[in-house]
Amino acid sequence: MADSPIPAPWLDRLRRSAERRRALGRDRAIHPPVGLDVCSNDYLGLRRDPRLAEAAAAAARAHGAGTGAARLLRGTTPLHEALEAELATWKGAGACLLFNTGYQANATLLPALLGPGDAVFSDALNHASLVDGCRLARAGGAAVQVYRHLDLAELARRLEAWRAEAAPGALALVATDAVFSMDGDAADLPGLLDLCGRFEALLLVDEAHATGLLGPSGAGLAEHQGVPGQVPLVMGTLGKALGAFGAFVCAGPELREHLVNTARGFIFSTALPPPVIGAALEGVRIARAEPWRRARALGHAQRLREALGQPGAPSAIVPVPVGADAEAVRLARILQARGFDVRAVRPPTVPEGSARLRITTGAHLEEGDVASLAAALREILRLG
Ligand SMILES: *Cc1c(COP(=O)(O)O)cnc(C)c1O
Repeated sequence: MADSPIPAPWLDRLRRSAERRRALGRDRAIHPPVGLDVCSNDYLGLRRDPRLAEAAAAAARAHGAGTGAARLLRGTTPLHEALEAELATWKGAGACLLFNTGYQANATLLPALLGPGDAVFSDALNHASLVDGCRLARAGGAAVQVYRHLDLAELARRLEAWRAEAAPGALALVATDAVFSMDGDAADLPGLLDLCGRFEALLLVDEAHATGLLGPSGAGLAEHQGVPGQVPLVMGTLGKALGAFGAFVCAGPELREHLVNTARGFIFSTALPPPVIGAALEGVRIARAEPWRRARALGHAQRLREALGQPGAPSAIVPVPVGADAEAVRLARILQARGFDVRAVRPPTVPEGSARLRITTGAHLEEGDVASLAAALREILRLG
C-alpha cells in the first residue's frame, strides 16, 4: 500500500476514531437503495415524477444549469422569485426566502437573529440542524435552553424564569420541529403560539416533514392545526415531500429583509440552480393540486401504526422502537432481505439506548405493500 499523503499523526487519529466507532457498533456507511422505498422522505412520490423532470429540463434550457453566483450578486432568476411568491401564498406568509438546504437555513437563522443576552428555547428532539443553529447562536452570545420534548409546561417555566432575569431589550425565540423527524409525533402549535404570545417570544417552526403532507392544502402542520399563516417564522424543505431540493423560510417582510442582510448561509452561498427551482415549482403545484397523494401516504402510515399497536399521529413517519443498536441493524437487514428498504437509526441521530427502525410511507406504495410490510414487522417483532 502506498504511503497515505496525510501526516502520520492525523492518520493515527482517524484510525483510532474509526476503531472506537466500530467497537461501539456505531460505524456508518453509505448503502445504495435496496428494494421498496419505505425509508426516504419522498412522501408524495414526486421525486421520480416525469413532470418534475420536464420542469427541471425546461428551466435549465431557459435559465441555465447553474446560477453562477449568490442571490445578492447575479444569482437570482425569475424562477427564484416565482417560487418565493408561490411558497409565501401557500403558507399564508407575507414573504419567503429560499435557502440552499434545510440544514443551511436552520444553522444560519438562529445566529442571524440572536445576540448577547438573548435566549433560544429548543425542543430536546429538534433536528440536528437546529441544534447546530443553537450552537452558533451560543457562540454569538445567546443563551441556549433545551426543554423536554413537547413539554409546554416546562417551556413556560423556563420562559418565566428567563424573563425575570433578562436584561432590558433581551429577546427570546422558541424553536421546534413541526413533525419530529425520528419519532413522527407533532408539536402543539396553537399551544406554542399562545405561550410565545405571553412572553413576546418569536416562534420558529421547522415544517420539513409536514410541508406537502399536512393540512387541507398541504401547507403543513400550522394549517392542519388550524393556525395557518400565524407562525411568524416557518422553515420548510423542498427536497422531501416536494420531490426537488433546497429549503425556504416563510416570514414577514421585516424578517426576510433582516435575513437577506445577516444570514451568512444565505449571503455566502451560490443560489439554487434553475433546474432545481423548476422542479420545486412543479412539486408545489402538484402537492396542492393532488391531495390524494397526502391522503394515501398518511393512510398507509395509519394502517402500519394500527398493525403495530401504536397511537395515531399526523405524519407518514412510523418509528419502530428497538433499543439496542445491533438489534436494530439485525432487524433492518432481515427486512431488506425481504425487499423492504428499512434502515436502522442509531445514536447520535436518536438518544442513547433508543435505536429504532424508521419507516416512512409514501404515495408510491400499494395497499398490498403496506400489508406485507406490516405482516413482516409483526412476525420479526413477535407481535403474535
Ligand atoms: C431534513 C431536515 C432538515 C434538513 O433539510 P435539508 O434540506 O435536507 O438539508 C431540517 N430539518 C428537519 C426536521 C429535517 O428533517
